[in-house]
Amino acid sequence: MSTSYRPARLTIHAASLRHNLQVARDAAPQSKVMPAIKADAYGHGILQTAEILEDADGFIVACLSEAIELRAARIEQTLLVIQGHQCVQDLIIAAEKNIRLVIHSEAQLALLDQLAAQIVKVALKLDTGMHRLGIPAHLAATIYRKLQAHPNIHPDIWLMTHLACADDLRNPYTNQQISLFEQATESLTAPRTIANSAGILGWSQSHRDWVRPGIMIYGSSPFAYAGHDKARDSLKLKASMTLQAPLIAIKKLQKGDAIGYGSAWICPQDMQVGVVACGYADGYPRHAPSGTPLWLNGKRSRLLGRVSMDLIIIDVDNINAQPGDLVECWGKAINVDEVAHLSETISYELFCHAGNSCTKRYL
Ligand SMILES: *Cc1c(COP(=O)(O)O)cnc(C)c1O
Repeated sequence: MSTSYRPARLTIHAASLRHNLQVARDAAPQSKVMPAIKADAYGHGILQTAEILEDADGFIVACLSEAIELRAARIEQTLLVIQGHQCVQDLIIAAEKNIRLVIHSEAQLALLDQLAAQIVKVALKLDTGMHRLGIPAHLAATIYRKLQAHPNIHPDIWLMTHLACADDLRNPYTNQQISLFEQATESLTAPRTIANSAGILGWSQSHRDWVRPGIMIYGSSPFAYAGHDKARDSLKLKASMTLQAPLIAIKKLQKGDAIGYGSAWICPQDMQVGVVACGYADGYPRHAPSGTPLWLNGKRSRLLGRVSMDLIIIDVDNINAQPGDLVECWGKAINVDEVAHLSETISYELFCHAGNSCTKRYL
């Protein structure tokens, strides 16, 4: 899609990305830090983000093609691929480009036997309760030893797992996962990694040799939306993405006038509204309800009626505004976590959609 001429614009704040990386480092001072830059760095642009975060010790991505793109751009840090290899060709490329693969299933082991002389770096992923990717934890030692004995596997084999419920600080599942991981691997000496953003900021007992911050790097709280103590600002995280669009019309409506598709909002009094050139085609969530906050000329405004494809309508009744003024949908003034919560989704999804839809500028 050609997005260059759409009015909505996405600004990426390099200083915030670097600041948030430092927050991760400070929270896990004994660990090396490997930011997650999958899904185009949560919509922030994978190559630009890798360059901005040049101080990171490594990066984690979802699939091999992302790692290949990073190597082609001369990103030289450790790269870990969550989905690992699906065929022998993947193994050959990973060996050649020094890309570390996650081994998460026994089916992947069989493919190793088809290699010639290549040596592959791997991380063995254990399923400790997420039940997504990973081999059952009780097989850890057996499979680890198999990998150690394999002529095509580099002897530096990592151990990893992923937390399912770390965003909920009262949930005992996280400690159960950590214990199971420890139990299953206690006989093994190997670099370990468990923590995502929520683990880094909320569960210091999950820190190991490497930590894997994702959403916190992008300035959003990893914790379930629950008031102030774990909100973005109290965690000292800074917004790294701002979605803005211009007002393109202002109009006076009368009490009883209906706004937008489905006439879903009715003016309770005579009022002034503004039309903003941003909609769900730009990644603004279709499910944002009336009342969702936006920021205009130093004041909080609110969404009125349904979100359209390219437009939204907002309240400008007490705001001094004119066409051309920029409205912030989320960023430094409007917390993306609030918009996501009201829209019954998470910031991760808003970032990915906006990143896919809008032209990005880097500050
Ligand atoms: C995406 C991902 C992360 C980062 O998760 P956040 O919740 O964004 O911090 C860490 N580890 C793995 C395996 C992931 O897939």
